[in-house]
Amino acid sequence: MSDIIYLDHAATTPIDKEVLDAMMPFLTDQFGSASTLYSIGRKASEAVEEARERVAALIGAHSDEVFFTSGGTESDSWAVNGVVSAKAKKGSHVITSKIEHHAILEPVHLLEKQGGTATILEVDSDGLVNIDELKDAITDQTVLVTIMHANNEIGTIQPVGQIGRITRERRIHFHTDTVQTVGHIPVDVNVIGCDSLALSAHKLYGPKGVGAMYIRKGARIDRFMRGGGQENNRRAGTHNVAGIVGLGKAAELAQVRMAEESVATTKLRDMLIAGIESRIKDIRLNGDRVNRLPNNVNFSFDGIEGESMILLMDMNGICVSSGSACTSGSLDPSHVLMALGLKHEQAHGSLRMTLGNDNTPEQIEKVLDTLPGIVERLREMSPLYNQ
Ligand SMILES: *Cc1c(COP(=O)(O)O)cnc(C)c1O
Repeated sequence: MSDIIYLDHAATTPIDKEVLDAMMPFLTDQFGSASTLYSIGRKASEAVEEARERVAALIGAHSDEVFFTSGGTESDSWAVNGVVSAKAKKGSHVITSKIEHHAILEPVHLLEKQGGTATILEVDSDGLVNIDELKDAITDQTVLVTIMHANNEIGTIQPVGQIGRITRERRIHFHTDTVQTVGHIPVDVNVIGCDSLALSAHKLYGPKGVGAMYIRKGARIDRFMRGGGQENNRRAGTHNVAGIVGLGKAAELAQVRMAEESVATTKLRDMLIAGIESRIKDIRLNGDRVNRLPNNVNFSFDGIEGESMILLMDMNGICVSSGSACTSGSLDPSHVLMALGLKHEQAHGSLRMTLGNDNTPEQIEKVLDTLPGIVERLREMSPLYNQ
């Protein structure tokens, strides 16, 4: 990665060397299954439990409230399906927002097809959910409120603590997707007041394909995968031991580094935002300026396509994205940007740059030296842009 400037940490982060080192024994000599009794299996099982404690410590939970999954998508899907099926007697109304990750929206849409109902809340032009609208949407049939902690495209941080107080009072399960926040800003399940949350290792310098679900003790939720009795009978399947150990190590490192890292990325973020705003005109900062992830920068540039910007930035060794990684490649504009009330052209003309602990001020200067020229060139060729 030496010469590459990687600004796509919301899509995935590079694996930390210490994380990889912690994982290696479990991909080689310590290959035993965590469910056996002989010693290499016992070692694996001890390592899984240690990882569980580290993840629990990072989010203020008890270790028996943490369940390992294949990642953020699985945890989100588990929350929607598991809560709705456990509460079928009460009703099947779900409340969520327009800007959730597809890992929440797709299971909710399936639920609607299967006879359930959903209120999908609008957001304001900065991406914030309106708390009064959320309160008004609650009915006797409501079994689940699922609102993300911070958005992966625009970085807006929702008032999840306020939502947790409302759902607790009304005895409704509150799930929150904290994939973008765990390990980056403080996440404490008791401060948020959530009943479950989703997290993913590869968004905090851990490996891909592993994550966790927090489920508050006593919360009613059906199991996700049936089979063997792993994860206290709630999520079957032989453990991804190396991945889980990697997640545990990443959680341990995050706890130590988070405060310092968020100060450093916030500085780079603000340098990048101010630099772009002073050098380029006819732009819009997407997402809330204040309630914003320390690492997120997202702008729409009038008159040009995000895809062309990505390609020209890539030719300069800079990795950025447009919309979310999952949907780029499709021609639909980002559902998140459209929910902010942007026009199609503005949504198509967006660029997301998300920072991480491998970025430096020198790199940001290079980006600020490169981007204005690219925007200018593309606008000169654009039929949509008239000065
Ligand atoms: C990345 C992401 C997910 C999906 O997590 P995976 O581990 O990649 O399945 C879900 N929600 C948000 C907000 C994300 O950023």
